[in-house]
Amino acid sequence: MGINPRTRDLLTTIGREVLAFLLPIRCPGCGVMIPPQASGRLCPACYGSLQPMADPLCRACGIPLMSTSAAIDLCLRCVRTQPSFRMARALFSYRTDNDSAPDILGSIIRRHKYGPNQALGAVLAELLEDRLPVDSDYDLVIPVPLHPRRLLRRGFNQSALLGAVVSRKLRCRLEVAALIRVISTPSQTAQDLERRRRNVHKAFAVRYPERVAGRKVLLIDDVLTTGATAEECARTLRESGAAVVDVLTIARAI
Ligand SMILES: [Zn+2]
Ligand SMILES: [Zn+2]
Repeated sequence: MGINPRTRDLLTTIGREVLAFLLPIRCPGCGVMIPPQASGRLCPACYGSLQPMADPLCRACGIPLMSTSAAIDLCLRCVRTQPSFRMARALFSYRTDNDSAPDILGSIIRRHKYGPNQALGAVLAELLEDRLPVDSDYDLVIPVPLHPRRLLRRGFNQSALLGAVVSRKLRCRLEVAALIRVISTPSQTAQDLERRRRNVHKAFAVRYPERVAGRKVLLIDDVLTTGATAEECARTLRESGAAVVDVLTIARAI
C-alpha cells in the first residue's frame, strides 16, 4: 500500500522540524554550527569580536573621549548643549559603514532592524541580559516606540523586545503605552545629526503623563547613532515631568 502524498509531505515537514530541533544551530554572526546547549547564541569567535564600550566616556552621552584627563568628563557637544537625558550608555560599539571589515554586531543589528528574525532578536536580548547592571533603581523601563504604521509593517518593535528583557532583569515595570511616536520619521541610517534632529522634532508624545511624572525612566533602544532620537524621547518625557531619563542601547555607532 502506497503512502498518500499529503501524508508523505507532512512527514517530511515534521522530520525537518525534528532535525532542526535536535541538530546544532548556526551562529547568526558567521554561520558556523554551534551546539544548542552552548551558552550564548553567538559562537565564541563572534562573541569575542564584539567591542565593549571602554572608558573614558563622556559622562552624559557616553561617546568615547579622546582625553584621558579626569578633569574632562564631557564631550564638546554635551558642553555646548546639555542633553535632556542624564546619561546614555551602550554595551558595545559598532560601525555604520557597510564597506569596512566585517562587523558582526552591526550586521546583526541591521538585519534585525530590517527583517523580523527572532533568532537575531534573541541574540541582542541575550547580549543585553548578560551585561546589564542589576543595581539600578529605575521606576520604569520605556522602549523607544515605533510609529503604529511602521509597527504594522514590521510586525514587531525591536526596542520593546529588548525593553521586556531589561524590565524582567531589573524587576522594574515595562511601560509601552505612555510614550508614543506621533510622526513616522525616515530610518536613521545615513543621516547627519542636523537632519536627524529636524526629522525627529516633536515625533514623540506622552499619552499618559501621570504614568511618567516624577519617575526615574530607563529608555531602551537597540542602537544609538546620532543620539537625536534618544534626545527627543528624553526631552518629551522630561517635559511630562519624568524626574530622570537614562538611555541604554545595545550598541553605539562610532
Ligand atoms: Zn560566529
Ligand atoms: Zn557627550
